[in-house]
Amino acid sequence: MVMYSPGKTTSYPDEPIDSGLRYHFLGGGSEVGNVGLILEGPSGNRLLIDYGLAPTDPPRYPDEAPKITDTIVTHSHIDHIGMVPWLVGAHRSRLHATHVTVALSELMWNDCHKVSRIEGYPLPWDKRDLDEALNSWTAHSFGEWNKHGNWKWRLHSAGHIPGAAMIEIDTGQRKVLISGDFDTRNSPLVNGATPVQIDTLFVEGTYGGREHPDKSEEKQRFLNKVREIVDRGGTALIPAFANGRGQDVLLELHSTMPELNVHYDGMGKTITKHYLNNPEYLRDSEALEKAFKWVKRVSSKSDKKKALDADVIVSTSGMLDGGPSIWYLNRLRHDPKNAILFMGYQAKGSGGRRLQEEGRVEIFGNLTPIDLEWDSFDFSTHAGHADIVEFAEACGAKDVVVYHTDPNQARPPLVEALEKNGHTVHQPKNGESYVLQ
Ligand SMILES: [Zn+2]
Ligand SMILES: [Zn+2]
Repeated sequence: MVMYSPGKTTSYPDEPIDSGLRYHFLGGGSEVGNVGLILEGPSGNRLLIDYGLAPTDPPRYPDEAPKITDTIVTHSHIDHIGMVPWLVGAHRSRLHATHVTVALSELMWNDCHKVSRIEGYPLPWDKRDLDEALNSWTAHSFGEWNKHGNWKWRLHSAGHIPGAAMIEIDTGQRKVLISGDFDTRNSPLVNGATPVQIDTLFVEGTYGGREHPDKSEEKQRFLNKVREIVDRGGTALIPAFANGRGQDVLLELHSTMPELNVHYDGMGKTITKHYLNNPEYLRDSEALEKAFKWVKRVSSKSDKKKALDADVIVSTSGMLDGGPSIWYLNRLRHDPKNAILFMGYQAKGSGGRRLQEEGRVEIFGNLTPIDLEWDSFDFSTHAGHADIVEFAEACGAKDVVVYHTDPNQARPPLVEALEKNGHTVHQPKNGESYVLQ
């Protein structure tokens, strides 16, 4: 049970600092997701960046946040936004993010609340906190400067998903950039992030030590596989995350194979509407609008049954943990002409990982053998190893803090490469304070 007792259970120190900039990861310092980062200057000026949870089984929660007046949220993925309602209930924190992130917050929080109830996991915030949080937002555009005490801050596009932001903070003594989840490469939905001239870079290291395959080759391999499944009379089931990945897949399919019969199910439909309401955050809003009109949106039980004859079904959950994708899998699993195409990494303990490793998936409580062909494609929108190193260099960062990373596999090779390039590299642990001088 995550029981926070405001002011009593936090790992954050009481003492102010005399000089420099203190940073402290409540979570996400040495793990992927579960992010909460406090920055504080000598005047006591303090900001919280993100407050998420890791949707693992069971979920991981960040340490309790200390008293906070203002929180900036980089983007609407649950590992960055999931715990934010608690900040409003406990500390009346004001919340800041881009318009898309603000628009998606209600949906993401409601989903988080629903999942915690279904799975029987506790959340330290309730629906009343959620409602208050919705009234605590200020939406910001990229590039617009804001004041916080004697600091200035603004948001920059991070790539990754629509509305995802990097945060630049100017303390007067030091310029800092926090990458959030970022990608310097363009995706179908968003343009890649560009460097910002700063002194200190907090950078996500999800893909430390790993490179993505060439984007256009990977896309071609995916399209060829879809074509092969359709040509043999099968249906390709594509489990994809609702917030970003699913829409990337739709855009690729629509632009190359508009003759296909593609059905779209799950929360991604509503998320797409929010994207389209905020076209300035999209690389090509017209393309998304066309793809969204083209795809057959599933909204009823009879739509679901019709979708079973589709060429392609794109649906949540992205890791075969419940949701409509399980309903489809249960019906498609008997015909070997069908196949499952994963669009990204399947986390440990997820249904997708189990299918890949054991050939079985839990369907409505029963562990069920699945004999279908499956394949996996890299549609990630996190920067790869070389992109991260290049980005740090292009930002002119003297200090680099590597977070949102696996501390054993991903971080060591990234630290080595960054140090070789002359940066002073920091490897934070959760729950510990560090001061940059
Ligand atoms: Zn993340
Ligand atoms: Zn993300």
